[in-house]
Amino acid sequence: MTTEGPCIHILTEGVSRASGVYVKTNVPWQRNMDPIVLCCCLGLTICYLVMNISIMRCEFLATVFRVVLNLCLSQTLSPSELDSVISGVPLDVRRIVDILKLRPHTQSFICCSECYKLYPNSPDSPDRCTYQPTPDSEMCNTLLYTRRVICGASRRYPTQTFLYNDMKAWLANMLS
Ligand SMILES: [Zn+2]
Repeated sequence: MTTEGPCIHILTEGVSRASGVYVKTNVPWQRNMDPIVLCCCLGLTICYLVMNISIMRCEFLATVFRVVLNLCLSQTLSPSELDSVISGVPLDVRRIVDILKLRPHTQSFICCSECYKLYPNSPDSPDRCTYQPTPDSEMCNTLLYTRRVICGASRRYPTQTFLYNDMKAWLANMLS
């Protein structure tokens, strides 16, 4: 199929109402999705997953994208169409990651940074590592958590984690 204007070969075939850009995609969520919105979502996802930009800063970027879309499309779209396009850019980047199914099914363990003993990632886990190589030797006693203050609230986070990708879940994801 040939269309006028730029062509974005990402993966539903369709021509955007807003921009006339041709988009090819196989992901159900992306069907009938405006390519401008799709580009914004992919940009936000790359910022979050590849460039390690925080969720709050991604929210700021999403707000900037919404303002730019509003300024660019307000002359060509009706108010209802404009609202539909703008609301297509989620403010929470985690929603995009979930919708695109980019988050693997992993099990998280707390990992001691000294001896690499693993603990379940639950509130019941000890604050310090309890590993002893032999019954008579000293415990590792390494701190397993680090405290961080976020928005005025102090919370503890595992200093180091180990992610386990379940083989059955990985195969199911590959074959789905
Ligand atoms: Zn340890």
